[in-house]
Amino acid sequence: MTPSTDRNQELFDRARQLIPGGVNSPVRAFRAVGGTPRFVQRAQGAYFWDANGQRHIDYIGSWGPMILGHGHPAVVEAVQKAVLDGFSYGAPTEREVELAQEIVRLVPSMDMVRLVSSGTEAAMSAIRLARGATGRNKLIKFEGCYHGHADALLVKAGSGLATFGNPTSAGVPAEVVQHTLVLQYNNIAELEEAFAIHGKDIACLMIEPIAGNMNFVRASVPFMRRCRELCTQHGALLVFDEVMTGFRVALGGAQSVYARAIPGFKPDLSVLGKVIGGGMPLAAFGGPRAIMEQLAPLGPVYQAGTLSGNPVATACGLATLKEICKPGFFDGLAASTTTLVEGLRSAASAESIDFCADSEGGMFGFFLLPQLPQNYSQVMKTDGTMFNRLFHGLLDRGVYIAPALYEAGFVSSAHSEADVAETIAAAREVFRALCPLVPEVPHG
Ligand SMILES: *Cc1c(COP(=O)(O)O)cnc(C)c1O
Repeated sequence: MTPSTDRNQELFDRARQLIPGGVNSPVRAFRAVGGTPRFVQRAQGAYFWDANGQRHIDYIGSWGPMILGHGHPAVVEAVQKAVLDGFSYGAPTEREVELAQEIVRLVPSMDMVRLVSSGTEAAMSAIRLARGATGRNKLIKFEGCYHGHADALLVKAGSGLATFGNPTSAGVPAEVVQHTLVLQYNNIAELEEAFAIHGKDIACLMIEPIAGNMNFVRASVPFMRRCRELCTQHGALLVFDEVMTGFRVALGGAQSVYARAIPGFKPDLSVLGKVIGGGMPLAAFGGPRAIMEQLAPLGPVYQAGTLSGNPVATACGLATLKEICKPGFFDGLAASTTTLVEGLRSAASAESIDFCADSEGGMFGFFLLPQLPQNYSQVMKTDGTMFNRLFHGLLDRGVYIAPALYEAGFVSSAHSEADVAETIAAAREVFRALCPLVPEVPHG
């Protein structure tokens, strides 16, 4: 494509004059992988078309929400109908009650739920609630987990367990993160030590149960069991950030997956987003009645939102949940995801490329590593140059995966067997080209 006909490049050049980095969320800028971001013109089913008219099989799906693919007819109809009745009222509606009812029905750890507009807002509010409900300040998070961009969460590990974190963003005062302790994911010894030192001051432990912001890393069952035990023992709240995993890895979220392995398991608070809005700005947090009633207007913890429970967003969310509640939905989704992941694995192994992968429901991750990483520093051992060649190889062949090696991937119910087969065929070609360029020198 000559530069003058590359509409993606033209739009990116214009965007960069007007919007910092040309994008409204940093990962879209392709800075990790290089090259020109694809500007989306339209999307349907498993595909989107970029500004040059090239079709892409979409494995991002708006970073998770599009579990039915793009433009599902039942969802489109619900949204069109809702729009005709008005966009926003700033007063309660029946659909908010219906959506709240659906959420508490599907997620048994939640008696009550509050709707908000973004995952960031939901996670930030859940932490405020946990602090208000416990009367404590300190919070535990894990390196590689992302809970949105609230100040107290933009933090990396301090120099030791006795010290709290350091801001990872300019503009965040050290005082704001002085109560945030950052631990290594899946590290039981470190977790025990942190509770031994700070237990009586810890308001909550927030975790992505299956971390999707360091590619795809599961909390091990023993680690999760210990998180639950230590929170209970020390009076801290266990907060599951299921913004990504909720209604994505299973109908009951990742907590239902852990409850299968740990009888009676449940978190205290849950944070939801992405799929519950079906692509509209909608998120939520919830938990037991006694804790949720600490929120304004009933209790002392303030939280509010002009667009919270927006009538168009709730229509979109409800229509999406209705589809994923249909019998067999998650079995079909998981089968497509497994076929994809297994196909990629055998394509890589045919070329003797280090590769491992994992998936749950409609969420997957793969690594150019010999074995599945357990924490952030192991994820970051992936060869970035090789990942970038893989990314661009797939992109050139019309397969759109996340433009960074620390992001998960998403399959929708619109991805057909043919789409998955096309993806695997593309990957096979790319892996072939990725083969070590220099033949091994024979020993002897
Ligand atoms: C996406 C995400 C968030 C933030 O949600 P936004 O809607 O982008 O603010 C929080 N936590 C997790 C686990 C996420 O994946």
